[in-house]
Amino acid sequence: MPSFEEYCAEIAPLWESRWLTNCGTIHNHLVDELKAYLGVENLTLFTNGHTALEILLQSMELEGEVITTPFTFASTTHAIVRSGLTPVFCDIREDNYTIDPTKIEALITDKTCAIVPVHVYGNVCDVDAIQEIADKHNLKVIYDAAHVFGVKKNGVPVGCFGDASMFSFHATKVFHTIEGGAVTCRDAELIEKMGQFRNFGLDSEDAQIAGTNAKMNEFAAAMGICNLRHVDEEIAKRKAAAERYLERLDGVEGLELWHPDEGVQPNYAYFPVLVDPKAFCATRDDVFDVLAAQNITARKYFYPLTSDFSCYRGRFDAGNTPIARHAAANILCLPMYAGLSVEDVDRVCDAVLSCKR
Ligand SMILES: *Cc1c(COP(=O)(O)O)cnc(C)c1O
Repeated sequence: MPSFEEYCAEIAPLWESRWLTNCGTIHNHLVDELKAYLGVENLTLFTNGHTALEILLQSMELEGEVITTPFTFASTTHAIVRSGLTPVFCDIREDNYTIDPTKIEALITDKTCAIVPVHVYGNVCDVDAIQEIADKHNLKVIYDAAHVFGVKKNGVPVGCFGDASMFSFHATKVFHTIEGGAVTCRDAELIEKMGQFRNFGLDSEDAQIAGTNAKMNEFAAAMGICNLRHVDEEIAKRKAAAERYLERLDGVEGLELWHPDEGVQPNYAYFPVLVDPKAFCATRDDVFDVLAAQNITARKYFYPLTSDFSCYRGRFDAGNTPIARHAAANILCLPMYAGLSVEDVDRVCDAVLSCKR
């Protein structure tokens, strides 16, 4: 969070203007600042990332099947289903947990309309291979970019890949507006349409779309303005924590640690560790329990696979995704935030290493 004083200074003018929502001054200022920071031409803000993804899918008027991965947060799959589309689950890459492009083409049918990959943990998908497949089969590519705020691949900002990307500005993310989200996309007309969609579909008096209400308010936007001033500092602090984790845990038998991919400028959003129960002689769940007993909150993230959710049982084919299943069963995300001290990282590492038998 910014300091109390910094936030108060940002919201003080609202007591004069009384303009609290509906694309006010602070909202519009944040749009400009985010376009510059994310290096994109088109961007719209929403109340949260999930609604942004739903509105995006619905504004693109897609129909049929969408190829996606089950190793993600509930939101990705729910947004597809709630937009009347059928998720078709593809497996992930073992090295960075994003969609495995070599397994996409086998899943394409005459009903496939889009690919919805997820940039998991701030790791960037194989955007070139995905685009090549999409171009060959005339499919849309929509990225769940909730984890990759500020990330670049070979100097290209992530929001520039595919047809569109959804970012989440939830309080738990690298950059936040308390709750909030955005879509970046190539097509300026689509931005216009989503702007109407999030405001009841209204275009002055008439509604051409049966829209919804998903406008970001001024108080949320003000939090974003403040946080954006400090985000580079925050990422640098996360980097220091990640480097300490790597120093302490890299090379430990039975632990596979997160490493930045070649050519990627990361944001250190998460610090996932894959626990090999045989080599480490303890399971992911054992480690989770030992940490919990010491008041250290790690997360089984993502677990379970979204394709295993009760609400989808018997409704969609869970697909054959053994690598995603292995990741969901064995990955633990260790504490990671800008205020995490080296001493605290050491305490977490000591607790993790105490599990090894
Ligand atoms: C956080 C998150 C979302 C949803 O974003 P909200 O802003 O919380 O609605 C979607 N996908 C992924 C991968 C996320 O981590």
